[in-house]
Amino acid sequence: MGSKISEEELNKVLSTEGPKEKADPKKKWVDRMLKSASKYHKICPYYDKKTGNCFIKQLKFMKSTKCDRDGKFEGCPVLISYLEEKYDWFKQSGQPIPMDFRDLTLFA
Ligand code: SF4
Repeated sequence: MGSKISEEELNKVLSTEGPKEKADPKKKWVDRMLKSASKYHKICPYYDKKTGNCFIKQLKFMKSTKCDRDGKFEGCPVLISYLEEKYDWFKQSGQPIPMDFRDLTLFA
């Protein structure tokens, strides 16, 4: 038994799916930067291999400055939050938003 929906129902379904598909530009940019970073770095560029510390945590004077991920930055909340802050900073300052991770490090 085939199921058919009317054009009206189809439009309703499509219109409710529209906003969900639109990704938040900040999240989109952060994802892009993470993807870009993984092209150039096997381990986190903010990971101090000698001490095991995280430069971002140090920069923010966090209580513990150790990286608890051994420099594996995929999905790291510290890095994601840092990138989100960077995005806000670029937006507020009116600077062009970098599209490649290598360009971002110039501003870090
Ligand atoms: S905590 Fe996250 S941002 Fe910091 S060095 Fe480790 S992986 Fe990188």
